Amino acid sequence: MAVPQRRTSKTRKRMRRTHFKISAPGMVECPQCHEMKLAHRICKNCGSYKGRTVVENN
Ligand SMILES: [Zn+2]
Repeated sequence: MAVPQRRTSKTRKRMRRTHFKISAPGMVECPQCHEMKLAHRICKNCGSYKGRTVVENN
């Protein structure tokens, strides 16, 4: 059985884990109100899509 030649150090382990970050997939910032919104969908906050208001929510 293959066995690692050297135990991964705390530093190496931590350096590797810097790439494990929480990500909300498909979330982008709204160009109108700078809220986080789902990509390719209208903004929940301001109801805009592609620079124009699609849904009025007031
Ligand atoms: Zn918005």
